[in-house]
Amino acid sequence: MFSEKAGSPREWEAIQVERATFDHLLIKHAAAAGAEVREGWTVSSFKTDAEGVNIKAHAGNGEVESLRGKFLIDASGRGNVTGNQEGIRVMHPRLKKLAVFGHFYGVRVDPEPKANDTIIVRMENNWFWLIPLSRDKVRVGCVMDKDEFVSAKQTPDMNFDRNVQCSKPMRERMAEARAIGPIQATADFSYRNKRFVGHRLLRVGDAAGFLDPIFSAGVFLAMHSGKLAAEAVMKSLDSGQDGTRHLLAYEKKVYDAMAFYWEMVEKFYTTPFMEVFLEPRNRFHLPAAVNAVLADELEGGWSMRWRMRMFFWIIKLQARWPLVPRISFN
Ligand SMILES: Cc1cc2nc3c(=O)[nH]c(=O)nc-3n(C[C@H](O)[C@H](O)[C@H](O)COP(=O)(O)OP(=O)(O)OC[C@H]3O[C@@H](n4cnc5c(N)ncnc54)[C@H](O)[C@@H]3O)c2cc1C
Repeated sequence: MFSEKAGSPREWEAIQVERATFDHLLIKHAAAAGAEVREGWTVSSFKTDAEGVNIKAHAGNGEVESLRGKFLIDASGRGNVTGNQEGIRVMHPRLKKLAVFGHFYGVRVDPEPKANDTIIVRMENNWFWLIPLSRDKVRVGCVMDKDEFVSAKQTPDMNFDRNVQCSKPMRERMAEARAIGPIQATADFSYRNKRFVGHRLLRVGDAAGFLDPIFSAGVFLAMHSGKLAAEAVMKSLDSGQDGTRHLLAYEKKVYDAMAFYWEMVEKFYTTPFMEVFLEPRNRFHLPAAVNAVLADELEGGWSMRWRMRMFFWIIKLQARWPLVPRISFN
């Protein structure tokens, strides 16, 4: 998917990873680079003052400790420690979604050379992702309206099976699938904190905001914002001040990146988006620009931005006058 892109000097490649293995590598690397790593500790609160930040942390054995630093980078994911304490989390007004997902052997993926590609199966309201993690292990999930899940009154695995049965391509791909472990459910995604920074505080990744996982941007946005936050803190430490200017610049960059994915996710749930997205026409290098941005080319400048505006504008036009064939979900 990322093989065609516009205006990007870099080669892009997406890799599918097992999160437990990947996260373990990251934490080992952080420790090797000099970070003090404490596993099994939970941060319950924070307090900033003119010179720094205090946090209160609890160990699994009940031990409590106060820790102090010059800056706090909140990377607590959807735990959203600092955003919740400040009461600034805003849920998306319409995207009230829920996912049921699990790992499977025996899923039918595409033949080589596409055997490792992510597959999206879009139904009228719901959609499935199929992400090959290894030669025979595939992560499969279904995203639906939270209301639909609640009103169906089914367990996650019953609900998952019902959705599979509703879709011919999913029935075929899952015909010989065997679940590895239980089917899980998770809700309440798509939110943003009103602020990504505070006094001596920066929020990164899901602790800034979380989006419906359709474009698999979560880990990229977490790493992108983590890198920018580290740079902002280093510049602030060098200046010997509280870094307000650097923190505000960080907030703007991350907000802009997130706003783009936010707009893509909102449009994804509309039929005109799917119509245009599935019938790309190679005019003005639009498909390449959309690919490049989805492949995380967020600093492509004006040439990328005007193409994205044009892409969104074409979707608006498509809603009224069909520029490409209409889709029927029947
Ligand atoms: C159903 C679903 C499917 C997804 N699929 C994809 C995908 O295909 N590709 C993709 O890129 N992204 C996907 N995502 C999104 C991705 O998982 C997140 O965006 C990403 O993990 C964010 O990284 P993070 O470091 O901000 O948070 P996390 O990875 O959640 O890490 C937060 C860490 O903070 C810890 N923590 C939380 N609270 C506290 C506390 N109080 N004290 C101490 N530690 C705490 C947690 O234990 C955790 O270790 C998906 C998400 C969901 C829900």
